[in-house]
Amino acid sequence: MKELVGFCRKCGKEIFCLDGFFNGVHLDAEHIHCFDCFEEESKPPEHLQKKNK
Ligand SMILES: [Zn+2]
Repeated sequence: MKELVGFCRKCGKEIFCLDGFFNGVHLDAEHIHCFDCFEEESKPPEHLQKKNK
């Protein structure tokens, strides 16, 4: 079962629901990102990465 849910808001890639597994990330009700773009977006900006441990 493969169901087209929508398109990545950033790169336009098709997002599918595969056997109940959603092949992307909902940002909100209407915005979807693929995993690649979600990882890209969720990276902290470089100035926040320094010695925060
Ligand atoms: Zn994308």
